[in-house]
Amino acid sequence: MKTVTDYFGSKVFDDRVMKSMLSAEVYNSLKKTIDEGTELNIGVANAVAIAMKDWAVSQGATHFTHWFQPLTGITAEKHDSFIAPSPDGGVIMEFSGKELIKGEPDASSFPSGGLRATFEARGYTAWDPTSYAFIKGKTLCIPTAFCSYGGHALDKKTPLLRSMEALNKQALRIVKLFGNDDVKRVVSSVGPEQEYFLITKEMYDKRPDLRFTGRTLFGAKSPKGQEMDDHYFGVIKPRVAAYMEELNDELWKLGILAKTEHNEVAPAQHELAPIYTTTNIATDHNQITMEIMQKVAAKHGLVCLLHEKPFAGVNGSGKHNNWSIATDTGINLLSPGETPYENAQFLLFLCAVIKAVDDYQDLLRISVATAGNDHRLGANEAPPAVVSIFLGDELNAVMEAIEKDKPYKSAKKTQMKLGVDVLPKFNRDNTDRNRTSPFAFTGNKFEFRMLGSSNSIACANIMLNSAVAESLKIYADRLEGAKDFETKLHEMIKKTIKDHKKIIFNGNGYDESWIKEATEKRGLLNYRTTADAIPHLLDKKNVDMLTSQGVFTNAEIESRYEITLENYVKSVIIEANTMVTMAKTEIAPAVEAYCAEVASSAAVKKALDGKLKCDYETSLVGKLSALTDTIYEKAGELEKAVAAIDGNDEISVQAYAIRDSVLPKMDELRAASDEAETLTSKKYWPYPTYGDILFSVK
Ligand code: ADP
Ligand code: MG
Repeated sequence: MKTVTDYFGSKVFDDRVMKSMLSAEVYNSLKKTIDEGTELNIGVANAVAIAMKDWAVSQGATHFTHWFQPLTGITAEKHDSFIAPSPDGGVIMEFSGKELIKGEPDASSFPSGGLRATFEARGYTAWDPTSYAFIKGKTLCIPTAFCSYGGHALDKKTPLLRSMEALNKQALRIVKLFGNDDVKRVVSSVGPEQEYFLITKEMYDKRPDLRFTGRTLFGAKSPKGQEMDDHYFGVIKPRVAAYMEELNDELWKLGILAKTEHNEVAPAQHELAPIYTTTNIATDHNQITMEIMQKVAAKHGLVCLLHEKPFAGVNGSGKHNNWSIATDTGINLLSPGETPYENAQFLLFLCAVIKAVDDYQDLLRISVATAGNDHRLGANEAPPAVVSIFLGDELNAVMEAIEKDKPYKSAKKTQMKLGVDVLPKFNRDNTDRNRTSPFAFTGNKFEFRMLGSSNSIACANIMLNSAVAESLKIYADRLEGAKDFETKLHEMIKKTIKDHKKIIFNGNGYDESWIKEATEKRGLLNYRTTADAIPHLLDKKNVDMLTSQGVFTNAEIESRYEITLENYVKSVIIEANTMVTMAKTEIAPAVEAYCAEVASSAAVKKALDGKLKCDYETSLVGKLSALTDTIYEKAGELEKAVAAIDGNDEISVQAYAIRDSVLPKMDELRAASDEAETLTSKKYWPYPTYGDILFSVK
């Protein structure tokens, strides 16, 4: 039997394959490009292309594709076969360096948010040699960046790579100041924990809302939900276990380090976490993981729901972005070190993150803003929409000591060793946990918890990397010119703590009183919806930072602003239209039919014996007909609210209308329908109930 070690990465053109198939010269040159970002010459590209093709064909591949991540949030691919005619009437399999390096998909059907109109319709894809090519089905997939001919990024990978470069550049300046001259590169790493729901295909097919929008738009509460806390970490059911087993196998073949799996809080909810890796690769892997999750589910007669809030009343799904920065020499810059000097360096990086998160709270909120995620953030399950940082007791005490120039005393061990100047020495404390914080320090990494389950992790990491690069730049500018490095360092750390301690909160983030304190006393931002958040992408301070770090151009920022709002508006309109159709063509008729049955039963009883009271029937008919009237009325109002949006060209105005009139009308329509569901005979109700769906997988 083949073991995991035999087939792990078998569908990946990874280092092992490259070493065995490329000449030493070609391999070294490619490796230099991968590790140091040097340019690749066409001779090397040709040699790599031939090896890639031979390897792919030997694995049964017939096609290749430039695999990219347009702004739709999912991945895109256009397949070309390797075949070329040979003079004898047959074919040969061909693939050139040129085809490997560059592709020219028609860009015009991908969202470009004005970039297309302003610049050019055509776009091109460019090979990203830092992420390995892989085989999916019969196709060799080559990870690529996607740009317009004017050089503007039309995808999520390009700015992510730029943000990693910005972080590398600034972090290198800092580590050099601490004497780490052997460091050549600093990279950020991510381990994204992915939540999802699994339901049966049978249930899914019967729900137009799930099919069209990925979430239920109607549905009365199930008698049993998550209140018993019996699902979290519970025994995995055989059908789910079989699914997870096949999913792991598929992911492992693709070189994805799927590691942890367990049941989550809500019924039918689960989680998968891989071992962390370089941000760029973690992003590619997470996109592939989401795709494979859905494919494998289909093979098992299941559907994997990646929507942030498939069911009201039980937890939604998020994605925890565990993030750290490390040197190529193996130092995790977010890990407290052994010596006071290492600790001083750690403290500076920690401060850089604190400053970044405080200065760019809005960008972090923006990076996770979608219509789906708005249902989670601030809804007493996911972190609130207010961004804050959890540090834990130990670090908090360290920070306080520095700020107040007091000696540092650990709560656990009395340990006070003066470090660089007077920065304290302390040890890592891994035990402290806070599950309600949007941005929690967990010993040697930060866990950004606001991402929605369907979000590409690219967006959050672009903002995180850029904002931290900006803090580091400010520090490096000051420290490089400092006459007395240690005094300056101490001063700067102290100043950061003073200026930014308002973002640090170690209490319960779900508490109503925290939101009050955060917004009223501390002046932290609270952008509750996508419509509130996205316009701030264009705030001068944000544009200045992102452009000066070389992560986005002005035009790219504007295009992203447009596209994100457009996505928000479009997805809610699809939901509204789906609701109207369901309400008018299935729900109202079902309630009405049941009502008629009850009414006729009352009539029959009365005709039989005029003295029978028929209280049950009369009361029910009264309630049901009032509810059908409300459903009919609310569906009409919702239609009107949607129609009103069309008349407006300005995307932000459309988004505000979604927030202020469409979404509230959807809630009203749902409330009437959900009440009707609780009164209507199950025989008549056109859809599987929450109970049916959430407990469908046995
Ligand atoms: P928990 O649910 O307790 O937060 P998990 O084990 O489910 O923990 O997920 C933790 C994630 O953090 C994993 O993907 C893991 O690989 C990742 N991780 C661990 N260390 C680091 C690090 N230094 N940098 C980035 N991610 C990390
Ligand atoms: Mg976990």
